[in-house]
Amino acid sequence: MQKGSIRVQTENIFPIIKKFLYSDHEIFIRELVSNAVDATQKLKTYSSLGEVKGDIDNIDINISIDKEKKTLTISDKGVGMTAEEVDKYINQVAFSGAEEFLEKYKGKNEANIIGHFGLGFYSSFMVSDKVEIITKSYQEGAKAVRWECDGSPEYTLEQTEKESRGTDIVLYINEESAEFLETERIQHILEKFCKFLPVPIKFEDKQI
Ligand code: ADP
Ligand code: MG
Repeated sequence: MQKGSIRVQTENIFPIIKKFLYSDHEIFIRELVSNAVDATQKLKTYSSLGEVKGDIDNIDINISIDKEKKTLTISDKGVGMTAEEVDKYINQVAFSGAEEFLEKYKGKNEANIIGHFGLGFYSSFMVSDKVEIITKSYQEGAKAVRWECDGSPEYTLEQTEKESRGTDIVLYINEESAEFLETERIQHILEKFCKFLPVPIKFEDKQI
């Protein structure tokens, strides 16, 4: 018998994501909406502590499709992220996570993995050729940033313009996942996953 441990390069996180979750692609929506809800709930908390300037009346989460650009966008008006936070919570987590992921789920079957592990933001790469994050923190004077990654370990992070606080996650849906550009399909998924959330969820500006 031969025993050993698989050496995982951090670059390999994306193939791993694809392999483990191939049968349940639609969960990326639940993951991204729940991040948007978390960010909005955080904003409400900070606001109640007097830490947010201005009103927080309009905090809907909006999901929209652009069939021409082949994008699906999830927009929230939550806490947003500074460049440092994108670096910490998006870049560092993903590119150090592959080994830990395999260690934790070694020997478990796929269904278990799907059931027990919220893959989070990176599940968006199951269905996307490219993902953009355009975000502006609620903190005073914060500058908006744009992060972009095509599923390889290289990403770009730069300053951008964004009028209001919050985060837009833009998915450039890949060819095999074209179903996620269909209005009815998205409506159905949202009805399944996004009822009873503490923040109003809208699809193409209509309440779910
Ligand atoms: P988790 O939600 O379990 O922390 P994720 O991979 O889903 O893991 O998200 C990683 C982190 O990225 C979050 O904890 C949060 O700090 C940040 N993040 C993701 N989406 C958003 C968002 N829409 N607004 C603000 N921060 C976000
Ligand atoms: Mg999450």
